[in-house]
Amino acid sequence: MLIDALGRPLRDLRVSVTDRCNFRCTYCMPRDAYGRDHAFLPREEILTFEEIERLVGIFADLGVEKVRLTGGEPLLRHDLPSLVEMIAGIEGIGDIALTTNGSILARHAPALAAAGLDRITVSLDAIDDALFRLAADVDFPVARVLEGIEAANEAGLTPIKINTVVRRGLNEGSILDVARAFRGTGHIVRFIEYMDVGSSNGWQMTDVITAGEILETIGAEWPLEPVEANYPGEVVNRWRYRDGGGEVGVISSVSQPFCGECTRLRLSADGSIYTCLFGVDGTDLRGPLRDGATDAEITELITNVWESRTDRYSEDRTGVSIGLPKVEMSYIGG
Ligand code: SAM
Ligand code: SF4
Ligand code: SF4
Repeated sequence: MLIDALGRPLRDLRVSVTDRCNFRCTYCMPRDAYGRDHAFLPREEILTFEEIERLVGIFADLGVEKVRLTGGEPLLRHDLPSLVEMIAGIEGIGDIALTTNGSILARHAPALAAAGLDRITVSLDAIDDALFRLAADVDFPVARVLEGIEAANEAGLTPIKINTVVRRGLNEGSILDVARAFRGTGHIVRFIEYMDVGSSNGWQMTDVITAGEILETIGAEWPLEPVEANYPGEVVNRWRYRDGGGEVGVISSVSQPFCGECTRLRLSADGSIYTCLFGVDGTDLRGPLRDGATDAEITELITNVWESRTDRYSEDRTGVSIGLPKVEMSYIGG
């Protein structure tokens, strides 16, 4: 098992399969930075499924047990279920998850489940159609995302997690709507504090609605009680409705950072690894991979990167660090 300079093991890998997305969520890919002429990665620079499979195999040998496919919008990548199937066949990988905006999930849910996907997270910031379109900045009906969630439910990808990013002045009014929509369904909504990822969303601390505020809002409507973490270091803070309406969570990445427990590495769509969501520089694995490096050579590269890892951006967040250039989340994978 690989341990970093702060004693954290490498356990989870997030793989961004594309930097493209059909939504323009204002906090992630704002239209003024991702307009019509935005240069996305050319196809030849993106890792092929075979390259991803080989790297995941190397990571599995290094102790990675969980893989999450993300992006960009991962379902825009042609034939994603085939990649799921390839990863499901890798020894040591016990859990494959997907984060998606749900827009084309209804079409793909059965094939994803059949390919061996274990878990799915659907991002959804509002239930009200007008507010949803505003948050995702796209002409797309929220009903289609809800159909996607239903299709995933029918395909057995349960319990489904719903990710709701809350940004002051945008969708704090939908906290109760989203909670209400999924109470009693078995799906688990996780409200996420708006983060200063990337350099294009113009983040300010005053835009953050903290996990504490979110819990107060929900608890005033439906009293809550805490639930024990599934495992030590789980990033979500779990709660349950006292009336039996199910579970809800908050992810307090800004107000109560959890860097001490961070066991994640990110692989960008073009094959660089990043040891932190707020990273600036990655380490290229695609070059060596395509130049014929052996598994042992790639293993050594990854080992050096992880063993020298000291990232704790969120615990260190200061006025100075917030303004520094950072890699965009749609590129390295949320
Ligand atoms: N397109 C897919 C989706 O939206 O689920 C996967 C990629 S997206 C970058 C992954 C997650 O990151 C989403 O749940 C999204 O809401 C979250 N996210 C993006 N920008 C964020 C920000 N600035 N703060 C907090 N969460 C953010
Ligand atoms: Fe696309 Fe997901 Fe980012 Fe929204 S959060 S713009 S859906 S990648
Ligand atoms: Fe992990 Fe970086 Fe987030 Fe801290 S800020 S939890 S090190 S990804």
